[in-house]
Formats: sequence, C-alpha cells, structure tokens
Amino acid sequence: MLKKMILSAAVIGLAACGAETTAAPQDTKTSTNEVTASKQDITTQELGNGFYMLLGPGGNIGVSVGEDGVFVIDDKFSRFADQIIGQIRGITDAPIRYVINTHYHGDHSGANAEMKETGAVVVAHDNVRKRMGMSFENKAFGRTVNAVDEALWPDLTYSENATFHFNGQTVEAIHTPSAHTDGDSILYFKEANILHMGDNFFLGLFPYIDVDGGGSLAGMIASHERALELVNDETKIIPGHGPLAVKDDLIKTHQMLKIIETRVSNEIKRGASLDDILKKDILADYAEFSSFIDKDNMVKIAHRSILKTQ
Ligand SMILES: [Zn+2]
Repeated sequence: MLKKMILSAAVIGLAACGAETTAAPQDTKTSTNEVTASKQDITTQELGNGFYMLLGPGGNIGVSVGEDGVFVIDDKFSRFADQIIGQIRGITDAPIRYVINTHYHGDHSGANAEMKETGAVVVAHDNVRKRMGMSFENKAFGRTVNAVDEALWPDLTYSENATFHFNGQTVEAIHTPSAHTDGDSILYFKEANILHMGDNFFLGLFPYIDVDGGGSLAGMIASHERALELVNDETKIIPGHGPLAVKDDLIKTHQMLKIIETRVSNEIKRGASLDDILKKDILADYAEFSSFIDKDNMVKIAHRSILKTQ
C-alpha cells in the first residue's frame, strides 16, 4: 500500500511541478565546483561552506553538512531515494538530522518515508501536512489529488516561521502565504548566504502556481519581494527547478510575473474573456519560458488566480 501511495504522490508532483520536463541543467554561470557527475540521474554541485545542491529529476535539493550532521531541503521522488542518500553518503557519513519540505508536491517530498527511515525528522509548514492528509480537486489538471500515506507526512510542523541553529548556521524557514501553494517556505542560511526558494522560483521557466492547492500569482510575487529583502549580489539562490541562480535572476523572474499580472489584469478590467485574452497571445514575447507550463497555460493560471483573489 505504501508503495502505491508514494507512487501517486510522485505522479502528483510530476503533474504539479512539471518535474520530469524541468530536470535542471548543470549550471555553468555561477557554479563553484562540480563534485560528482556520473551517469546517475542525480548529481551534486558544491556551493561552498559545506553546502551542496542535488540536481536531476524533481525539485532541487539543498544539503548542509557540518558538525551537527546533515540538513536537507526537499527530497525529490521516492524512486530516487537510494540515489539521493547515496549522493549524501558520498559527501559525509554524518547522520541526516532534518529534512525540510518547501511544500507538499510529490517531487519535493516523495522520499520522505525513506529519509525518515535513516533517522531524519521531516519538518514543514502546517499546511504541508494538511495537504498530504487530504484529497482535493485540482481543477487546472482535472484530477483528484489524493492524500498520501502517513509515512510521508512531516513529523514536525510550524504555523509561521521557524529558526534552526545547525552547523553553525542560523537557518530561517520563512512561510510565504498563498504563493506556489498554501504551505511554502523559503529557507535562508544566513551566515553562508544561501537561499533555497522551493517552487516559489522557477528559473528560466514559466512557474506552475497551484491555485487549487492554495497558491496565487500575487502571493508568488510577494514571496519574491520577501526573498529580495534577504539577498545581496553574493547570495547563491537555489530555485525549485532550474540551475543555481543569483539575485539578478530572481529580479528578472519577479519582473516577468508582475508584467504577466498587469497584462492579464488589464484585459480582465476591459471586460475581455479568457478566450479573448488567449487569442491576443499577450505573452508572445515570453515564449522562450514555455516548458511544462506554456504561455497559454500561464495566461490561464494567472487569469484564474486573479479572479479568485479579486
Ligand atoms: Zn511544486
């Protein structure tokens, strides 16, 4: 039963985040040192200060290694659990102490059960646990999102923010309300100046916004504004999907989403129907950002989100 439920979580993640189609390419612009590149699907990129980013299918994983053990952000899919743990074991034998889920999607939390089996405590915002324990309709995809097995649910949850003191780092888990979902957190490692944005940030791609899962375009834009208060030009930013980023990448993505919001809002104000807006092809100049979410899907998501939050 557990296996079946985990698989369904993976499928949800695949649909929700476009994980298979957004396997992150290796970064060439901002990377420091490639420690592992093999024929395996999951690869590790060293970021310095005991930090690593695990790339490959599913959401990007952040790993902090130090004297207190291992702190992991997100864990992709169940079927990659052995590879993920193998990559971490290639760095250190220290125990995996915490795994934090940036949100409930199966491509970020699918290996929770296996991570718990190693002894890790899984931590997330309250709404991550709530979403994992409920079934609800995803109208954007016309399917039911089923509850997942309890073995995947976070053991420890918080209602707003949480601060970890681990590996000499002040780690701020900051809840960003109604952004990609209703349970997102961004994780800022203050001393190392590394920020994991979860799926509030897709680099080089139109973002998926899980409106049925409590997300909104306005909240996603606000999450960027919160993140931009934390970062500087030296900050290494791990997006949910896409290669390692810097502040300027986040600013450009933020600006794009604001432009999308303005264009769709203006069309709604002048009384245009969704079909009218689609016919006008108002995101033609951003066509290069089409992947799992293409420009028409982006308009549909923005339109639905704006009408819902008006
Ligand atoms: Zn997601």
